[in-house]
Amino acid sequence: MIRRILKKIFSFTMIFLISFICIFGIIPVQAAEKEPQTLGDLKQILADLKKQKAQNDAEKESTKQQIEAKKRAIRNAEDEITKAESDILKAEEKIQESNIRIEGLKEQTEKVLIALQQMQSQNAYLEYLTDASSITELVMRIAAVEQITSSNQKNLKDLENLIEQNEQLKKDLALKEKELEKKIVTLENAVKDLYGDLESYDKFALDIDTQIKTAQEQVNTYTKLCASSSKSYLGDKELLTDCTNTPYNAGWLKPLVKGSVTSLWGSRTDPITGKKSSWHSGIDIGRNSEGTPIYAAAAGTVSGIISRYSCGGNMLFINVVVGGKQYTTYYYHLLKINVKMGQVVTQNTIIGTVGGGSTSTSRGGYDRCTTGAHLHFGVMTGFYSAKTGTPKSRQIKPPGFNNKKGYNWSTRTAYYG
Ligand SMILES: [Zn+2]
Repeated sequence: MIRRILKKIFSFTMIFLISFICIFGIIPVQAAEKEPQTLGDLKQILADLKKQKAQNDAEKESTKQQIEAKKRAIRNAEDEITKAESDILKAEEKIQESNIRIEGLKEQTEKVLIALQQMQSQNAYLEYLTDASSITELVMRIAAVEQITSSNQKNLKDLENLIEQNEQLKKDLALKEKELEKKIVTLENAVKDLYGDLESYDKFALDIDTQIKTAQEQVNTYTKLCASSSKSYLGDKELLTDCTNTPYNAGWLKPLVKGSVTSLWGSRTDPITGKKSSWHSGIDIGRNSEGTPIYAAAAGTVSGIISRYSCGGNMLFINVVVGGKQYTTYYYHLLKINVKMGQVVTQNTIIGTVGGGSTSTSRGGYDRCTTGAHLHFGVMTGFYSAKTGTPKSRQIKPPGFNNKKGYNWSTRTAYYG
């Protein structure tokens, strides 16, 4: 009995696991990604970012070429349409010409026939009686008339055929023109899509450039720190925690003396775009006016500074060790940043001040991801220089923080994660 139950539990677990892997196949792979431990790991992150940039650049270039090729095809189709239109005109001219000639031939035939009729009714019999030579002439005239009418008949037929051919040509050309116009529309839509791709490549490039810049700064900072602080410098194998006099943290402290949680960490409806279940990488803290001092939630080394970013404004990243674990803390929408790259800060260091009001694009600022004065405070596992590009699974709920809307406090009491 127990065995059967165990068997059932086992098979259920397997089904769950398999479906989990199927649905979230990518996530476990990302989570398995190694956190940077050494100087070499930081360099690897930088190298990977540069590789991504190169790939993006190559894709952008190929998109540009595709756009050019499609534009050439559009120009060719337009040329073909112009030619078809002039061919249609030529066919119409030929039809008109033929019609005029047909009219001429009909007229001529009619005239000849009338002449013959007159000849036969008025004079023929009389002249037959009186003048033999006139009979010969009459016969000759009749033969001539017959020849003219039959030759006219043939010409008439040829001209009618010519008209028919040109009418068909006109129809074919009009069809071709329609097809070419359709082709142009398809090509133009494809070009529009490709321009969309190009825009996203440009956006990505902007993001990756920021990441490369901060990752490069982090490498430089740690290289300096490692070389100066380590007794036996191991180069790329140097452990990041040995590179700085990693300050001891008994636990986490709130980054602001007072505050109130206005938006939670995790999935939420975006307050700006209104998009449902969009990811919020930190906790928003309000109830502070612009310029209020922000303290480091944990002591550590400044690992990334991004100025005036379009979504986040002035952003600050600090590598910390709490409870023996490595984290990166981040602070967004700052009015001012008071620290420098590589600077070691304590929990009493004022690292910057609250912004997000005057810096908001709605008030003429540069930061489109804020609507009023607040601090966006977030925590990642591992030592990083920026949030973008790191897996979502690294962006954890700030340890010990009460992730509850409206939760508010008025002292920087310690909270332990
Ligand atoms: Zn936020």
